[in-house]
Amino acid sequence: MGRRITRRDFLNGVALTVGAAIVPSHLMAAGVVPPGPEASPDYYPPALTGLRGSHPGSFEAAHSLRDGTFWDHAGTPIDSGEKYDLIVVGGGISGLSAAHFFRKTAGEKSRVLVLDNHDDFGGHAKRNEFRSGQRTMLGFGGTFSIESPAPYSAVAKGLIEELGIDVSSYPKYVSKDLYRSFGLSPKIFFDKETFTADALATNPMPRVGGESENDKTRSHALEMFVKDAPLSAQAKADYVRLLSERVDYLPGLSSDEKKARLARMSYNSFLADVVKVSPEVVKLFQPMPQPLFGVGFDAVSAQDAWGLGAPGFDGMNLDPAPGKGMNRDAIPNAEAEKYFFHFPDGNASIARLLVRKLIPEAIPGQSAADIVLARANYARLDQKESAVRIRLNSTAVRVKHQGDPASAQEVEVAYARGGKVYTARASHCILACWHVVIPYICEQLPDKQKQALASAAKVPLLYTNVALRNWKAFQKLGTNAIYAPGAYHSYMNLDLPVSIGGYECSRRPEDPIVVHMMKTPCKPGRPARDQHLLGRIELFNTTFETMERNIREQLARVLGPGGFDPAADITAITVNRWPHGYAYEYNSLWDKFWLEGGETPCEIARQPFGRIAIANADAGAYAYTDCAIDHAHRAVGEITKA
Ligand SMILES: Cc1cc2nc3c(=O)[nH]c(=O)nc-3n(C[C@H](O)[C@H](O)[C@H](O)COP(=O)(O)OP(=O)(O)OC[C@H]3O[C@@H](n4cnc5c(N)ncnc54)[C@H](O)[C@@H]3O)c2cc1C
Repeated sequence: MGRRITRRDFLNGVALTVGAAIVPSHLMAAGVVPPGPEASPDYYPPALTGLRGSHPGSFEAAHSLRDGTFWDHAGTPIDSGEKYDLIVVGGGISGLSAAHFFRKTAGEKSRVLVLDNHDDFGGHAKRNEFRSGQRTMLGFGGTFSIESPAPYSAVAKGLIEELGIDVSSYPKYVSKDLYRSFGLSPKIFFDKETFTADALATNPMPRVGGESENDKTRSHALEMFVKDAPLSAQAKADYVRLLSERVDYLPGLSSDEKKARLARMSYNSFLADVVKVSPEVVKLFQPMPQPLFGVGFDAVSAQDAWGLGAPGFDGMNLDPAPGKGMNRDAIPNAEAEKYFFHFPDGNASIARLLVRKLIPEAIPGQSAADIVLARANYARLDQKESAVRIRLNSTAVRVKHQGDPASAQEVEVAYARGGKVYTARASHCILACWHVVIPYICEQLPDKQKQALASAAKVPLLYTNVALRNWKAFQKLGTNAIYAPGAYHSYMNLDLPVSIGGYECSRRPEDPIVVHMMKTPCKPGRPARDQHLLGRIELFNTTFETMERNIREQLARVLGPGGFDPAADITAITVNRWPHGYAYEYNSLWDKFWLEGGETPCEIARQPFGRIAIANADAGAYAYTDCAIDHAHRAVGEITKA
């Protein structure tokens, strides 16, 4: 309970109108690119509710490029006449870090343009704001925290320190015993469609295979689970057996041989065919790893499940060293475990600190703490006189060298903005955008590289924030974190109680709070990449109204017995839809090279090409902020080494 909730554990909003652009003339981006809505004093995307993440307006140009229809109606690009030292495509943490590293090498006077298709900067590191009376409540719309299964590199740590973030100071900001002081503990919600009845039971394994405090607490939790879970007697007996017995299920094999077998079978198969537990138990475990991989245990290898601490392996004498083909997410690392920091808006604070460094007048303040409540002035992001300009609502649609890539002196970037296409030129370009987009915008790349880039199709996710008037129903039901294996959102948690820089977390059940809910739209039973593709299509085709109805129904059903009334208790909903979410990480069940060795697609994908370098977390096939930073650094090194 007192433990921080990491990604491993986490195992009718009406959009505010963005004000019409009544733009003071001194704020206008002079030149042929007219000022957009960002220049209006009312423009403030973090406060928008409803459908966020990849919001309407952010993806249409890219999808039309993909469909081959974009240039049919684009008209002739308008030459903006703008010339930069560097153009960065993608304003996520990788792109912003690239701009920062470049200026450190090329000098503060160097001119940089950052383009992003969204109405806000930060990419996945997205800030959601809510108002409740005089109080501002924050939520993370994507990237949750500084955390990584492997230790941060010297480069990534260096940047975090340069931004003023003291990771070791985190304990002083988090009220780690707050929920426990109200007697709250993790629970499982069983729904009657998946199991036999709606019921809330104690979760004896809030973290996949982890301890829920100590052995005593865990065995009490197990007793409570057995008492309350609407499972058959056989399933309960199997569950207890799985958690307690120490059996070598693959006798006669060496540790390496066992790992090689486990790497090729899903954890579901291990449970059903090797340990032979009831199908009800398999159903209960199935969605647990979704927060890490975006798929359930049908598509996660048993070897990875062992690494994550899932039960069933205690008697198998597996060598604790990672096995070949293990997903890096599943390799425990004590040093990395300690390196954790959560801002109330997640790593949006990192993006905001980077923007403050690049364009100080856009976000006031001096410290990593005061960034939390600082209000960004979006009108300052794209000013003619500024060395760095961040241009939102702008989708790069073509990136090409001016002449032969081997000898060209410039790259021309065409981007769609406000229904028109503009061009700008730069000495260098860094593509810090999603890799699947790159083959469509950079046709000059070799085919082999384009194929590798295209294979980096991302993991779809929904990160939903619901603002509540109070959390009395949670208190009454004795829980702050609910795993709901059969529900629309499979996890729902009260906000992690962090107070920093004048921002105060919700301390009393009577006070307003943000609840975070997580869904992955996977399709169990298919290969992981197919699940991601179908999930992506589902997310694009589901209206906000449908999502909202599902959210209200789920909250009413789970919390109703605690007195929750969705009509009275919900004050706002923000659904962060990420059809292109986590970077795809390699999986020993489907990616042969991951077990058998050889060059990985991300190594082929990230090769520099003339004056163009390639960053983004996709470049390391690793869905973490340190990866986004490391590859920004590498990309800058490639273009500045000459
Ligand atoms: C829901 C969610 C939760 C996560 N939680 C964590 C976490 O807790 N900790 C962690 O370390 N990592 C987390 N991650 C991983 C996260 O992806 C990375 O940490 C990091 O934020 C990625 O940064 P990036 O710049 O590489 O990519 P992104 O943040 O995706 O930024 C790339 C940007 O490029 C833009 N772009 C794409 N195409 C174009 C184009 N043609 N023109 C202009 N712009 C374009 C994209 O729209 C996007 O804004 C999470 C990811 C998601 C989706």
